[in-house]
Order: sequence, then C-alpha cells, then structure tokens
Amino acid sequence: MTKTKQLNRIDLIFKNENDCKEILQKSFDRSHEEIINEMVNSGLKGRGGAGFPTGLKWKLTAEETEKKKYVICNADEGEPGTFKDREILTRVPHKVLAGMAMCAKIIGAKEGYIYLRGEYKFLVPDLKKELRKFHDILDELGLNFRVEIFMGSGAYICGEESALFESMEGKRGEPRNKPPYPTQCGYLNKPTVINNVETLAHSYTIMKYGAKKFRELGVKDSWGSKVFSVSGDTPIPGIYELELGMSVQDFVDDFGDGDTKAVQVGGASGFLVPRKRFAKSHIGYQGKLTGVSLPTGGSMMIFNSSRSMYNVLNNYLDFFEEESCGQCTPCRVGCQQLLKGIKAVKRGEKPAAYLDKLLKLTDTMRLTAKCGLGQSVANSFSSIVENFREEMIY
Ligand code: SF4
Repeated sequence: MTKTKQLNRIDLIFKNENDCKEILQKSFDRSHEEIINEMVNSGLKGRGGAGFPTGLKWKLTAEETEKKKYVICNADEGEPGTFKDREILTRVPHKVLAGMAMCAKIIGAKEGYIYLRGEYKFLVPDLKKELRKFHDILDELGLNFRVEIFMGSGAYICGEESALFESMEGKRGEPRNKPPYPTQCGYLNKPTVINNVETLAHSYTIMKYGAKKFRELGVKDSWGSKVFSVSGDTPIPGIYELELGMSVQDFVDDFGDGDTKAVQVGGASGFLVPRKRFAKSHIGYQGKLTGVSLPTGGSMMIFNSSRSMYNVLNNYLDFFEEESCGQCTPCRVGCQQLLKGIKAVKRGEKPAAYLDKLLKLTDTMRLTAKCGLGQSVANSFSSIVENFREEMIY
C-alpha cells in the first residue's frame, strides 16, 4: 500500500503539562465575559458527539439567575468502539478538572461531579488522589468548588445527559422530555453544565493557548482536534488525536490494513462508510465541508473484506435492543423488530424486499423516538443495509 500522506498527529490533549494552577490563576484573573468569548471564539463543540457549542452552553448557564448550579463531567463512556475518555482520565485527569473549575467559576457553581462509567471503577483510586491535589489548588486560589465521583451502574442510556441526571437523583436512568434543557433545568432541576471528558480537556487547551491557536486546526464548522478511538482491522489500534476535517480515505490510508471495506464512524450509533464513499466523506460535525457527522465520541471501527456486515449489524441491533430503556414504543419495539427482521431475511423466511419495510421503520424511529438512542439506530441500519444489501439476504 502506498501512502499519499500521513495525517497530522496532534499532541495537545495528552501533552505532559503540569501547570493547572498557573492556567487557572491566569483565567481567574480575566473577566467572565472574556473567558466566555474565548470559548465561543474557539468554536469548540461537544466532543461527546452531540456537538453543541461549548462556549454557548457555559454562557447560557451563566445567565441563569438560580443560586444553585452544577458542573458535571460526563464520563459514562459506553458507545461500542469508544475508549478515549478512559485514556484522558488516566493520563491527563488534571486537565479535565481544570476545565470543570473554569466552568464552575464562570457559571457560579460550587459543586461538580464526574459521572464515571460503572466499568471504569478501576480508575477511582487514582482519580481520588488527583481530586485531593486539585482541591488543594482550588483552596490556594480561593475558589469554593468541590468535585465528587458518582459511579454509573452500567447502563448505556445513562450517557444521555437527562437520563444521567435521573440516575444521579436515584431514579431509573430514563431520558427526560426536552426542553427544558440542562442549562436551565438539569441535575436536581437546577442549571447545569454537562460536558464530556474530552470537551473539558480541550477547554484547558483553549485557556492555555488561546482560541486562535485552537482554530488553526480543523475546518469551518469543525475547528480543532479530536481524540479518536481506532479499532478493528488495523495494524495500529489505539488512541490518536487528529485534526477534524480529514477524509475517510486519508484516515484509511493511515490506519487501514490495505484491505479496508468499510469504516464505522462514530460507534454503533454512527454511520458506516463504504469504500466507494471514502474519498468524499469527511470527518467532522455537519457543515459545508463535512459529509459525515460524528454523532458519538470519535470511534473509528475499521472492517476489512473478511468481515460480514450482516454480523456487524446483528451485533449492533443486539446491543441496542438490550440497552433501549424501554420508555418509548418506537425504540423499544423498533429495535426488537429490526433484529427479528434481519434474522428472518438472512434465514430466507422473509423476502429481500422486507429490508425496505425495515428501512421505513428506521425512518419512523428517527422521527418519533424520544432520545438519541432510538433516533440514531437508523444511522448504522440504513448505511449498512443500503451499502451491503447483498450480505443481508439469504
Ligand atoms: Fe428509551 Fe429508546 Fe425511547 Fe430513548 S428512544 S427514551 S432509550 S426507549
């Protein structure tokens, strides 16, 4: 395989920097307005996948007049193929905490939580050590803000922000109706900033190097770098920080094994990009320059020609059927019917045309499911069935 070019490997998030106290001091010396402008101008969008502008989120919460507010770090990383937040919390937890402190100062929060995925229990002892150091720094800087760890219990849906609040409040982890949004009515119905682990670490970078530097990377609508979890048929699996805006072709040239047939962008709830679309699909948030959005947190699963796309889809649907919270019918029944349906077509019990009915069902789910889980099942289902139909049939 001849490589035309190698993607730019960025070293901002994982750079070994231990100057949180100085960076926090520097940002505390600036006005709230200046910090918010810096965040807004950076163009940073949520790295958990939803892509909401971070600066705007902080601004809206700061404008709320409630006395009690919260900052929550969403570390409930459960999307299949995604493991980058674990690495960030292992290697640079102080940057995440610094991001939380900056946000707390601006919005006026005194309490913060790291909602940690249940399976990441092994990170707790080191995180607690880091929290002790962090609280000492905050005391020295005179900021009254404390962060605690809240353990998740293993439900994928609790990564959805409102289900996460419900679970923290001791209820079933089920998504709420929106609006109201967390900036007005989040944890305990108080204004809350909830940011993904990586988003908070980027906010540290922005405070240290400035919005201008951040925008030197990436493309319009998708500024900056992104941490990707690269897995599957690749000789170099792992965690990589790359510039947004790259084409899937460039990614495959770098990370594929020379026989890549498809790439799943954004985990099981993302899109499968087949070889014929590699060159035209770009990785980033929806915008002029990007053909593929990142509905989740930067998972890149590479499949070579030895893989059955039917098996891939079957695994995804199995996962969604299991993880659907069951609250709304389109998702609860839809996931079951999709799984049953593809099995029936594969066994020859239903004609190939039945796949078209299932595609219509995913359209209905996209329109009527209550939250992102049920809405995004359509992404992988339609991109796999439409591009690998022959592998789905008997
Ligand atoms: Fe629950 Fe699925 Fe409905 Fe979301 S879409 S509320 S996960 S049943």
